[in-house]
Amino acid sequence: MTLRGRLTTAFLVVVLGPVLLGSVFVGMTVATVRRDRAVERLDHAATTVRTAIGAVCRQLQAVADAVAVLPTADRRLAADQLIARGLAAEITIGRTGSAPPAHWRDCADPADVGVAAIAARAQAPGVTVAAGQVLDAAFVDRLAASSGAEVTLLSGDGAGAAPTESTEPPYARSHVAALAAGLPSAGHGDGQVRRTTDGDRFVRRIALAPGQPLPLAVSVPGGGPTGLYALLIGADLAVAAVAVLVARWLARSTTRPLADLVWAAGRVADGELDTRVPVLRHDELGRLASTFNRMTRELRTYVQALTASRDQLRGHLAILGDTLSSTHDVHRILRVILQTALSATGARGGVVLLIDPADHVLVARCAEGLSGRWDVPETELPGLRVPLGEGVLGTVAATGVAQRGSHPGGEPPCRTYVAVPICAPPTVGDPLVPGEATGSAAPVVLGVLALYDRLGMDEFDDADLMTLRTFAGQAGVAVHNVRVHEEAQRLSLTDPLTGLWNYRYLRESLRREVERASRFGRMLAILVLDLDHFKNVNDTYGHAAGDTVLGEFARRIRLGLREVDVAFRQGGEEFVVLLPETDGFGAATVAERLGAAIRDIPVPIDRRRADAADEDPVDRIPVSVSIGIAVYPDHGGTAQEVLDAADDALYAAKNAGRDRYRMAAPGVSPGRPRCADDRATTRPGGPQTPRQNRGR
Ligand code: GH3
Ligand code: MG
Ligand code: MG
Repeated sequence: MTLRGRLTTAFLVVVLGPVLLGSVFVGMTVATVRRDRAVERLDHAATTVRTAIGAVCRQLQAVADAVAVLPTADRRLAADQLIARGLAAEITIGRTGSAPPAHWRDCADPADVGVAAIAARAQAPGVTVAAGQVLDAAFVDRLAASSGAEVTLLSGDGAGAAPTESTEPPYARSHVAALAAGLPSAGHGDGQVRRTTDGDRFVRRIALAPGQPLPLAVSVPGGGPTGLYALLIGADLAVAAVAVLVARWLARSTTRPLADLVWAAGRVADGELDTRVPVLRHDELGRLASTFNRMTRELRTYVQALTASRDQLRGHLAILGDTLSSTHDVHRILRVILQTALSATGARGGVVLLIDPADHVLVARCAEGLSGRWDVPETELPGLRVPLGEGVLGTVAATGVAQRGSHPGGEPPCRTYVAVPICAPPTVGDPLVPGEATGSAAPVVLGVLALYDRLGMDEFDDADLMTLRTFAGQAGVAVHNVRVHEEAQRLSLTDPLTGLWNYRYLRESLRREVERASRFGRMLAILVLDLDHFKNVNDTYGHAAGDTVLGEFARRIRLGLREVDVAFRQGGEEFVVLLPETDGFGAATVAERLGAAIRDIPVPIDRRRADAADEDPVDRIPVSVSIGIAVYPDHGGTAQEVLDAADDALYAAKNAGRDRYRMAAPGVSPGRPRCADDRATTRPGGPQTPRQNRGR
């Protein structure tokens, strides 16, 4: 059964039930009242009838007495006169003890016999006088008129036999007579009232008694108040009809908004979030409808936000994928990872820190949305450092265990946080990862990825932690890969014997530095260095000792240079040094310093392995170097021209006796001597042999 059906039924029961009960009550009350009134009327009628018949009997008795006391001769005449005066209908004068005619009913002896008249007898010596009154329609009519009820003279013995002719209709209605016959004729049943089977009349039998010799019944109309009943039924029907209409209207107006809501909810369930229900009223259903609309609006906004967030996340993931696959720029990779993590979790801010292996501190590499002292430009980020083991970030880095919670205090100010370690991928046998070379180490922590203040200000949950672990894993792989790449590149660009940059890198660096000097209008000095008579070192001390000398020479070069200067091993025992933003004077100073650095302290060689019995196992090999200097743009307009000029200057230095430097001559075309001897410095007492072979 639908809600509408239930509401209709309930309304009808509530409204029609009392109406119907009331109607029944009214009907029953009216019927009872009518019956009581009928009983009262019948009592009154019975009393009246008894009184009237009693009066007739007393009158007949008086007539009979009057006739009886007269002399015998006068009796007949007097009787006739009395009859003529209407005091009696008939008067019989008989012998003593004679009875009146059989169809007369003696007032004093109400024998239950057929009735035609009532009579009264009087006794006188030797005679019995009976005065009778005929029972005819007029008599019964008079009784009825005086009693106010219909009077029925019952037939015979009053036990239901057919009525006598004289009491035929309307005086003896057969159903009245039959009903009255069933009533007790005397005693306490005298007052009983019956109703005819058709409900037409109330009937009461008047008991026979001295002075009331007639079997009589009185009746009054018993028909119900049909008009009232019809009115009640009509009213009930009208109320029922109105109730049905009102119930239908009520149920309809109540369930209609619900049906609208059901329809709208179905559409929302199908994804139609623009669906709205009309708010027609301001009752509870109206409020329900407006609440539903508000809920749908909120849902739509939420879904839109989610969709936007998803799209943003997709965008970030795409960027992340591109970044990871296309660049080895650690900073860019970490920034994209941080932005993607922020987008995925809806956090307000975040930071990525990497461990500086030299200092054992966490160094901030990129950050977003931080506040306080952590809100600094990107260039100042490396200044934000956290010692390992200190605070949340330091603890995560030191233990490798993720942490999350609220109000950590210190570090970036926030309400909630989550921090996960960035670990290197567990690559077995990776020499770049400490402890991995053995293949047994735990994952190495490279840094920490931390997010702050989750959307909605709840604490970061397990899902966030999982997400962040994923991104930290990506970051770990990326950082590790970049470091591997950097190391590989470094290995391909450096000379393994001396650790200096190799010839390949020299070409690129030279081109770049010349370009930069050209762009900014700066000078650039180039030194080409060649160890003197190095062949002799090999020949005298062996190749291994030669290698040692080469390594030591490289070390001394490094020590004698500024940070911005770069040294290269060009090949064999030949080296090149680039001195950015340096003129000829500065370059000559450097050349002098480097020459002195190798010249002043012979290179010690440990010979113990070769000869353990030697007293002094250490050889000190005296070494010197010749240096050619050229300056951009004075000695050449291109990298190659300047290098060639420096080469020529070296040649000149060799020719000038070695262990010295020579400055290239400005404006001299390649292939011709370019060195100005007057600018050369010569070590006093140094070897002065001319250059034999530059070995290049
Ligand atoms: P000069 O003063 O004219 O430069 O004489 P030099 O002997 O130094 O010149 P030369 O070019 O004749 O000899 C260079 C020697 O350097 C030849 C080679 O055996 C040696 N050499 C080149 N590379 C290496 C190296 O990697 N290790 C060792 N030990 N020796 C090397
Ligand atoms: Mg040499
Ligand atoms: Mg050489």
